[in-house]
Parts: sequence; structure tokens; C-alpha cells
Amino acid sequence: MASGTGPSTGDATLRRRIEPWQFEAYFDPRQLRKEACMLSEVRWGASPRTWRESSLNTTSHVEINFIEKFTSGRSLRPAVRCSMTWFLSWSPCWECARAIREFLHQHPNVSLVIYVARLYWHVDEQNRQGLRDLVTSGVRVQIMSDSEYRHCWRNFVNFPPGQEAGWPRFPPMWTTLYALELSCILLSLPPCLKISRRRQYRLIVFQLILQTCHYRAIPPQVLSAAELMHPLVAWC
Ligand SMILES: [Zn+2]
Repeated sequence: MASGTGPSTGDATLRRRIEPWQFEAYFDPRQLRKEACMLSEVRWGASPRTWRESSLNTTSHVEINFIEKFTSGRSLRPAVRCSMTWFLSWSPCWECARAIREFLHQHPNVSLVIYVARLYWHVDEQNRQGLRDLVTSGVRVQIMSDSEYRHCWRNFVNFPPGQEAGWPRFPPMWTTLYALELSCILLSLPPCLKISRRRQYRLIVFQLILQTCHYRAIPPQVLSAAELMHPLVAWC
């Protein structure tokens, strides 16, 4: 694709691209939206080709839909190494985490990296355990940072002409908050991030509540980034 232009109308990738407003709305780490969006990449063996798809949740969660479609597809090649990357607006719930682990167990040729914009019901202990189990199963789980937003914008979004560099820049504070909470989950610590809705003002309040156990277990370089932040962040 030529630099400085949008995806051309003849571009075969347009079919699976989402609109800029959709990307900004679904992947905004400050919003608690009902919709869940998955942007997926699949690579086979040493082939330079990347297969990309975008999907929203239906009556089933996006992860389940992906697994069902993938396992029923004719492109399934069990003898070829397969690398997958998922960009998810919400992290997998515990039921999806279990389904993903079963899928990976049945398809040992597949490796999976998951980037998430937000943690789904992150104080729920089953969801926390689900994420730990995924990581134990070899899945890399990370919070989306600016480089993933840029990558998704260029490869999954029908950005306007001249706007190749126009991906949404969300304040890094939210990435830091969610990354810190993901650290807590993976270290089996209690939550340090509290998210509450204050309906009368239509506010979503993000609070960082650090306990002694957090200071003991979380690497100092991670904590120092969080300590620079105001402990209470509101978003409306
Ligand atoms: Zn789910």
C-alpha cells in the first residue's frame, strides 16, 4: 500500500476492515462497551502471507466463534506450524479461556498471542484464574499499547486517505493501569484496579488501590510507572 493513501477500493483486504469509528469505539480502554471485537491474524509455517479477519460477538463470544470457524475450515493443516495473534477489545472470560485451552490442546501446532484493550470483569476470581491458566498453557497475554493500536489501524481499519498515521492515541495511563492489574492477576495477587460506574454523573471511575502485598510482589519498575499517576481517574 502506498504511504499517504487509504486502502484502495480494489484492495482485497477491505472486506475485513472495520471503520475508524468502530475501532476507536470498541478498543477505547476507557469505555465499558457491550460489544466485543476481535481482530485476528493467522500465519502458516514459513509463509509470508498473513490471513486477517475482524469479527464482533454474536450470541456467542468472539473467541468461540473464531475457534468454531477455524476448526470447521478446510484450511486446517495439522502438520504445519500455525501462529495466531488476536487483538481483543475485552480479555477472554473464564469460559472462553477454557475453550481456548482445549482448542490449543487439540491443535499443538498452533501458538497464540493475545493482546487486549481491557480486562473483562477482572475482579471475578474465575476470570482471573482463566487468564492465569491461559498463560500457563503457553498463551502470551498482554495489554495493547500504542504499537498494537498502530498495527491494527494500518492492517484492520479502513482509514481515510492520508490518515495512515491517524490511529487513536489513548492516554497511556489506561494501558499502565490495565497492565498493572494483569500483573496482579498473573502473580495471584488481589486486584489493585477498581472500576466503578457513577450513574448520576455518567462517570466511570478508575481507582488504583495498592496494598502491601502489591508492593512486595510487583517489580519496582512496573510500580514506579503507576505511582506517578493520580490514584483516581474519572472518565465520562
Ligand atoms: Zn468469553
